[in-house]
Amino acid sequence: MWWESRLEGKVALITGGASGLGRATASEFLQHGARVVIADIDSQLGRQVAKWLGPEAHFIECDVGVESQVAEAVDMTVARHGRLDIMYNNAGITGPVFPPGIADLDLDEFDRVMRINVRGMIAGIKHAARVMIPALSGSILCTASISGLMGGLGPHPYTISKFTIPGIVKSVATELCKHGVRINCISPCPIPTPMVVSQFSGFFPDATQDRIMEIVHELGELKGSMCEEVDVAKAALYLASNEAKYITGHNLVVDGGFTCFKNLQF
Ligand code: NAD
Repeated sequence: MWWESRLEGKVALITGGASGLGRATASEFLQHGARVVIADIDSQLGRQVAKWLGPEAHFIECDVGVESQVAEAVDMTVARHGRLDIMYNNAGITGPVFPPGIADLDLDEFDRVMRINVRGMIAGIKHAARVMIPALSGSILCTASISGLMGGLGPHPYTISKFTIPGIVKSVATELCKHGVRINCISPCPIPTPMVVSQFSGFFPDATQDRIMEIVHELGELKGSMCEEVDVAKAALYLASNEAKYITGHNLVVDGGFTCFKNLQF
C-alpha cells in the first residue's frame, strides 16, 4: 500500500539510533521501505537494536563528537548501500542534571554538551551535504527540543545547545536549497526515553520509575493522550519523505500545544 512505502528505495543514517527517539524513527523508516543504518556510541546496545530491527538495519559505532567518526559513518553507509538519502542528526546528551548556576558554570562541561549537541550535529550536516550536494537530493533532519524555544526547561548548557539548532538549520537551508537538499529540525516535548527518565530521576530522587514515567507523561500531555517516541518518528517520516519536498529550514514542534499553552501564561 502506498502509505507503507513512503521511503521505498531510500537509505537513512540515524545518529543516536540505538535508543529512544532514534530507535523509534529507525523502526518507522524501515516499516516504510527504507534501509537504515544506526550510528551510536553504545556499540553493545546498537548491535542488539540493529538485530532486533531486522535485515535492512545495520549498526555503525560512532561518537558524533569526533568528526572523523561521523565522516566514516557516512562513507560506510554509502559504501554499503550506494547512496544516502536521509541523514537524521539525533544523538544528544543533557549534561549534568544539577549544574551550577550561570555564575559558577563549568565551561569545560558546557563545551562537552556543545560538542555533542551542536558540533556533532554540524559534523553530521557537513558530511551528509558532502554526499547529497553532488546527488542533488537529500533530506537532513536534526533533533532540537522545546527546551530550545523557551528558557527554564533544562540546564543552561542543554537549553543553549538546543536553541542553536533551528538557527543552524535556517542558515544551512539557504545554501542547500540551491542543490536540491532539504534540512529541517524537530522540537519534541518531554518523552520518557532513557535520557529523560535518568534526568528526571535526578530531579525526583525518591520517586519510583513508574512515577517518573507519569511525571514526564504529564508534562507532554495533550487532552489525556501522551506524547510518545512514535509521534516524533512520524514527524521525521514526513519530513524525510517526498511529501515534504517543498519544506526546508523549518522547525517542526511536536509538543501537543505545550509551548503555546506556556506562552499564554507569560
Ligand atoms: P536516549 O538516551 O533514549 O537516546 C540517545 C542516544 O544517543 C543513545 O542511544 C546514546 O547512546 C546516543 N548517544 C549519546 N551520545 C552520543 C554520541 N556522542 N555519539 C553517538 N551517539 C550518542 O535519548 P532521546 O530522548 O531519544 O534523545 C534523542 C534526541 O532527542 C537528543 O538530541 C535529545 O536532546 C532530543 N530530545 C529528547 C526529548 C525527550 O523528551 N526524550 C525531548 C526533546 C529533545
